[in-house]
Amino acid sequence: MTKKRKSRGRSKGGKGRSDYVECSNCGSRVPRDKAKKVTQRVSLVEPTLARELSQKGAYIPVSYVTKYYCISCAVHYGVVKVRAREDRRTSYNS
Ligand SMILES: [Zn+2]
Repeated sequence: MTKKRKSRGRSKGGKGRSDYVECSNCGSRVPRDKAKKVTQRVSLVEPTLARELSQKGAYIPVSYVTKYYCISCAVHYGVVKVRAREDRRTSYNS
């Protein structure tokens, strides 16, 4: 069978079923290994104020927000791009 992508669009490998996650944008149910995981640093303090405080040696707490996107939303938000036929063969990680 011809394959569009080496990984078939998932990072599952030979494993069986995988559990689902909800897309952070549209709420659709996506397999965890297919969804695109995005972790963002979110500062509780404004950037200009944070720079000033860190110069004075203050500790600024940073929280991380993890989001999962379905493929449609990932393409829409530029997490992944539509790639040419040859580029699709390689994984994003390698
Ligand atoms: Zn979505």
